[in-house]
Amino acid sequence: MTKLINGKEIAQNLRNELKKEIDNLRSKTGKVPGLAVVQVGNVAASSVYVKAKTKSAEEVGIKVIDHHLKEETSEKELLQLVMKLNKQVNVNGILVQLPLPNHINEQIILDSIHPDKDADGFHPLNVGKLSIASHNDENLLIPCTPYGCLIMLKGLGINLAGKNAVVIGRSNIVGKPMAQLLLKESCTVIIAHSKTQNLQEVCQNADIIVAAVGRPEMVKGNWVKNGTVVIDVGINRIEVKINGENKNKLVGDVDFKEAAKNAFAITPVPGGVGPMTIACLLRNTTIAFKNAQKN
Ligand code: NDP
Repeated sequence: MTKLINGKEIAQNLRNELKKEIDNLRSKTGKVPGLAVVQVGNVAASSVYVKAKTKSAEEVGIKVIDHHLKEETSEKELLQLVMKLNKQVNVNGILVQLPLPNHINEQIILDSIHPDKDADGFHPLNVGKLSIASHNDENLLIPCTPYGCLIMLKGLGINLAGKNAVVIGRSNIVGKPMAQLLLKESCTVIIAHSKTQNLQEVCQNADIIVAAVGRPEMVKGNWVKNGTVVIDVGINRIEVKINGENKNKLVGDVDFKEAAKNAFAITPVPGGVGPMTIACLLRNTTIAFKNAQKN
């Protein structure tokens, strides 16, 4: 029978472990990890994410330092804030919620975050460390979504070494770091993207499919061979008619119902990758705190 990978439950377990660890760290050091959360403007989805991240952080004992700036904030002003947070000793992690308004260059801002405080794991130095196999994962700040996917894969108890893994999507925040993580686990990795030919065939040879595309239900049931593990990162809002009324529905990049018929294990949307992303942000902040205590 197909196993449903319960991201909600796995994320809850990770948060419970982090809470215990933070309690211990508080007893030993008298301090707790601090996470600065910076939001510019009022994009509704960003406000929802910031609220969820803040709530989860506080629940595990992380101190959240909130900076909600107005839409008109200039790039220079935002850079000045990041510089200030880089120096602030009670701030271990800095999270700048994306997207930023168009007049601000996101990459300039992300690059300005001190790599030791890079809660999202997007800084070029941390991206580089991830690609160097000898670095130990335990101290690294790794992009949260792909690390969450890896935890779910490892939780299945299967041997990942030698498996054919197809990652669909090559973004800096999901696809590329996911491929690096799978490579570290000795998978044979294919990174597919919009120019990939015969994607269906490519997927049919996969033991593991990670879909991070942003196209509702693109991966069809017959793309998934028997026994494949399917991790669906996609979050897409579609309109469906229920009792004659148009309603919004959240779906992934995979046709869940059909793919589940062949998959060995599959993540649902919602309740799969999403909760893991936030839990891994808290993990990164805790790692940054522990790394700072060593220095
Ligand atoms: P991006 O838009 O940055 O990247 C999408 C990738 O998909 C690109 O590499 C693109 O290829 C590829 N792609 C687009 N169309 C096709 C196609 N027809 N066939 C194959 N590949 C295609 O998205 P993100 O990586 O930021 O996010 C991907 C999805 O994951 C989104 O739905 C997003 O909402 C979701 N997400 C979910 C998170 C969670 O916590 N669950 C966190 C982050 C994202 P190319 O490079 O050639 O353009």
